[in-house]
Amino acid sequence: MRGFIYSLLLGLLLTLLGGCSQPGEETLHLSGQTMGTGWSVSFLPTPEASSPVAIKRLIQQRLDLLNRLLSSYDPDSEISRFNTQHSRNWFAISPETAQVIELSQQISRFTAGAFDISVGPLVDLWGFGAAPRSEQLPSAEQVQQQLAQVGYQNLELRLDPPAIRKLVPQLRIDLSAVAKGYAVDSLQALLEAQGIRSYVLEIGGELQLSGRRHDGSPWRIAIEKPQDGLSEVAGVFRLTATALATSGIYRNYYVVDGQRYVHTIDPVSGRPVQHKLASVTLLDPSCARADALATALMVMGEERARQFVEKHRLAAFFLVHSGDSLVEYTSLAFQSFLNQVKP
Ligand code: FAD
Repeated sequence: MRGFIYSLLLGLLLTLLGGCSQPGEETLHLSGQTMGTGWSVSFLPTPEASSPVAIKRLIQQRLDLLNRLLSSYDPDSEISRFNTQHSRNWFAISPETAQVIELSQQISRFTAGAFDISVGPLVDLWGFGAAPRSEQLPSAEQVQQQLAQVGYQNLELRLDPPAIRKLVPQLRIDLSAVAKGYAVDSLQALLEAQGIRSYVLEIGGELQLSGRRHDGSPWRIAIEKPQDGLSEVAGVFRLTATALATSGIYRNYYVVDGQRYVHTIDPVSGRPVQHKLASVTLLDPSCARADALATALMVMGEERARQFVEKHRLAAFFLVHSGDSLVEYTSLAFQSFLNQVKP
């Protein structure tokens, strides 16, 4: 479906071609791989911008750097080296890592711990981290044992010079729910430094978009219908100048004895969430914030999340299972954002 940019949970942009398009085309498309998923940029070129090949190289270099800092899949990354050491001393980190952790702690406090990057031991225990999943489901004792290491309050951050330290030695942090959004914001700064003002940039379904398409119309973002294995559209939205992040529990899960176990972990129970909220899409100026808040809302479940987004005037779009169908819920702030976008 040409012209639609899809915000899919795993960031498959159905309408964008891979690699580089040629200069002179109305809209250029670049894409590549990062953080276990794909990235893509669609943009209107400007005279002062570097060549598409040079821009693609700058983007990939930036993403490779952030991956070396923030990945819990790369054993040599800054986060993995922090996770594997068990001292309580300050561990020096890069400014970028400090920014991600500072935002994460803010979102943890804002969501009363629903978002919590210290869930790393539970993510691994339930088989959603870098290590292969064990055949056996974790026992209640194992869950309790790992739960004892979890709690964002057990991680201290110093901003100058940037460093973090553990208050419990087995603490392990997992930035999978916020670092892609942070990387999107970082790439936005890179594009704007090139003088590029009309673009949609995306990593694994987390987006930043600005300006308008080559014909002056708003970008059109399609939200995927969260159904196993299908790729259908739940809704198409005309958007400009916002970030958009989607979290869901319909891609990354496994089923044991008819029970579905998903990759969103409740830091209070220590278990994968079980509720009817299938996916949350959030609009916010910051993609990192939208990314983290979307995961927090997935932890909250449909009722608590609905109250939270209305209380805090968050622009949210929910898809909720109801029998065999899906019911949409758009918050007041989401609706008023859409109404502002001129065709
Ligand atoms: P989101 O909802 O955005 O995030 C869910 C993830 O967040 C879960 O998978 C879990 O890791 C974590 N989480 C679960 N519950 C909570 C909670 N309550 N609070 C906070 N976090 C929670 N994947 C690979 O397969 N291979 C790779 O090499 C790889 N490298 C990566 C490198 C980086 C820097 C990052 C950030 C991620 C990487 N990933 C990799 C993971 C992958 O890109 C996605 O981040 C992952 O699938 C989750 O993103 P999502 O948008 O699907 O779900």
